[in-house]
Amino acid sequence: SVHCRNVRLSYGRTEVLKDVNLDIEPGEFFALLGPSGSGKSTLLRLIAGFNPHQHGQLLVDGKDVTGLPPWERNIGMVFQNYALWPHMTVWDNVAFGLVERRVEKAALRQRVGAALETVGLSAYGQRRPNQLSGGQQQRVALARTIVIEPQVLLLDEPLSNLDKTLRVQMRQELLALQRRLGITTIFVTHDQEEAMTTADRMAVLDKGVVQQVGTPAALYDHPVNTFVAGFVGTMN
Ligand code: ATP
Ligand code: MG
Repeated sequence: SVHCRNVRLSYGRTEVLKDVNLDIEPGEFFALLGPSGSGKSTLLRLIAGFNPHQHGQLLVDGKDVTGLPPWERNIGMVFQNYALWPHMTVWDNVAFGLVERRVEKAALRQRVGAALETVGLSAYGQRRPNQLSGGQQQRVALARTIVIEPQVLLLDEPLSNLDKTLRVQMRQELLALQRRLGITTIFVTHDQEEAMTTADRMAVLDKGVVQQVGTPAALYDHPVNTFVAGFVGTMN
């Protein structure tokens, strides 16, 4: 589970997150939706520990992680641009986090192999990222994150660079994987349809304010304001 309590963040004088309160249940596939610049990536980075803590409290599976550095949080994040190491092979990209954590060789080999198999890339270990398609790179980013067995998975528009067909296919694979691992997941997207068709629940963010939280059906049927209505309703 992830609990954000009165989380605020400013860049200089600009308030980017304003008293964000979110309660994400264990094992939930939770979508964070909102227009460009609404603060989605900022919130994910804050949960992962990449933004300096300013105000509020953050609990992961009941543990207060507020102010802890990223490597003490056991949270995996797939960035908006994947951030793969271009000079490393697929295998080394996936192994990186385990090397950092000083996992011994045999266990490392076993876990990297299993992670690559999970995302269907067992045969691609010796390639470099630029020799892969966008969808394959996305899977490497995912493998690199799940290999550390995080408590929470944060995905920042991991499918946004893909064409529509691949996106729909990857969306299903991602959801199946999430269900299999049972891992609490926050999935950022500005694609309403993607959120509506995959999420257990979702939050709509605008200008750093959570406008509404609920199931896709609840937001669609009972939007609390015209912003949510317009944003969620545009799928028609
Ligand atoms: P997108 O859908 O385009 O990815 P987003 O919802 O992820 O948008 P954020 O990246 O969280 O938006 O940015 C929220 C606001 O914070 C934007 O106005 C952005 O310009 C600003 N911002 C983000 N990072 C910084 C930074 N390092 N310094 C100053 N302002 C920043
Ligand atoms: Mg973003």
